[in-house]
Amino acid sequence: MFCPKCHGKFEHVQTPLGVIDRCQSCGGLWFDVLEHTDLKAIAKSIDTGDKELGELYNEERDIQCPVCVNTNMLNMVDSSQTHIQFESCPSCHGRFYDAGEFADFAKLSISDVLKRFGILKKKS
Ligand SMILES: [Zn+2]
Ligand SMILES: [Zn+2]
Repeated sequence: MFCPKCHGKFEHVQTPLGVIDRCQSCGGLWFDVLEHTDLKAIAKSIDTGDKELGELYNEERDIQCPVCVNTNMLNMVDSSQTHIQFESCPSCHGRFYDAGEFADFAKLSISDVLKRFGILKKKS
């Protein structure tokens, strides 16, 4: 499988939660449908790419799904963190996050959960 952004090769990275795909050149991450929710817990250890390079590739938004043939991916914006722009395939629902984006995405989501349960509420 080849990276939809830089056309580098994805490598399989073994994690405690299964194997993930990470681009060897730009550090972008590919997630099959719903994998991104399972892998949030270990986001920091898998999103090891160069954040600045990720920001450069974030500009590249006209890409095709690396899994489906001739399918343009949709440009998405994370609803709770609008600075995070990722691509999603309308056919297989896979997602692509540029380097640095997934760790960022996971960070706020965890604090959101804590907030929901009142853990981060200010003590009066
Ligand atoms: Zn790449
Ligand atoms: Zn697809």
